[in-house]
Amino acid sequence: MSEYIVFYKNQGVYYYYNGEEYKTTKTIHQVKMNQFELHHSYDESNEGLKTYYENMKVWSEQIKSKFTKCKFDYLSKYNDMIASVHFCMMYIKKYIQTHDEITFTEQNWIEKCYNTGLQSCKPQDKAIKLYSYDGKGFYQYVLSSEDFLIPDKEGYETTLNELPKRKELKHGFYHVKITSENPNANMVFAFSPEHTYYYYDLYFAMKHKKALDFKIELFQDNEPNAYLYDSLIKSSDIFCKWNTTINELKKEFPENKLLKNLGSKVWGKLVEFNHYIVEGSELDKNFDKYKDCNIIRTKIYGAYEEADYREVHYVQDEAKPYKYNIRLKAQLTSYGRSLVSNYAIENIDNLVRIHTDSMSFTQPWKELDKKIFKKEEKTSGLVQFKKCNDCWHECWKCHTQFKWEQYQNHKCW
Ligand SMILES: [Zn+2]
Repeated sequence: MSEYIVFYKNQGVYYYYNGEEYKTTKTIHQVKMNQFELHHSYDESNEGLKTYYENMKVWSEQIKSKFTKCKFDYLSKYNDMIASVHFCMMYIKKYIQTHDEITFTEQNWIEKCYNTGLQSCKPQDKAIKLYSYDGKGFYQYVLSSEDFLIPDKEGYETTLNELPKRKELKHGFYHVKITSENPNANMVFAFSPEHTYYYYDLYFAMKHKKALDFKIELFQDNEPNAYLYDSLIKSSDIFCKWNTTINELKKEFPENKLLKNLGSKVWGKLVEFNHYIVEGSELDKNFDKYKDCNIIRTKIYGAYEEADYREVHYVQDEAKPYKYNIRLKAQLTSYGRSLVSNYAIENIDNLVRIHTDSMSFTQPWKELDKKIFKKEEKTSGLVQFKKCNDCWHECWKCHTQFKWEQYQNHKCW
């Protein structure tokens, strides 16, 4: 039987349960046990922790029961992310083995893109009736989508004299300046601070150039202005079996919260840097050993020249910048954004907010594709978005405003 804890974090303190007692800590990684975060639908209380702890045992057995040949023991993994990546590797490892290693040159292009979900908002000065929809299992859906293409081989840097026409655009990275004075452009497009865009973003900007008043200029500064790929595969060819298995399990065990983790937590792990930690003093002493390494970031503790001063470097091997050789980091987020935005733009006059795969509108949208998007209660109703990540629910009767968690328990009528 695996030993594990379940925990939640509240104001910098971790509250956890190990099957016997309830404890707190400020540094959860120092608890030397497998650790799983309480699902947000559970109460942040001792009761909630205990129930979740017990349920995890049942859910883990449910997953195990589906596998006769290979064993997959969720609770033996360090956390939800590790569990999700190990589960995924059972299905995709054989496919990605033949992919080229991602090169350091490629990494430089990847990291200049806006590699996260779109977040945009028209802040409201009072609560209004909102209708929100979000993509259930969004990244799982995208990964197993036939239309989502990813490169499997190394590409090449090149200097273009002009941008090709939209339909002739090749997959890859482009160093282009995209601007727009149209306020709607900010709602549906993530401008890259380093002016580097992956194919799907550039394609989106070109497609909606007129509607959103985009200006698109290719940089011409004697440096390569594109990195292009010739070899592409369907993401679904890799993730199909993984996706089907999760969906089958979800059908059989609809209450099993671990299955959601297997689908949603994996992509962040798949695009992880191949990095390790080196102390500053170690780096100074053995400089030769680390000369082909790249410092991604440095954390500094204490004051310089004081006894407790410490530098910790996150170091990456230039020969293998990422842990897994699957080209997803820029591709998945770029495809995901353009997928959501292509829907949002159809209803842009009513659009109030986008957060990754969640969209909020001032009118119900009956025609929206129900295969991908479902009604999201958490951001629907009489709601005020003060900022993209600051959402308040207002009671229709007493007009008090609440955060979602409190609002669910509020009843003054
Ligand atoms: Zn009320």
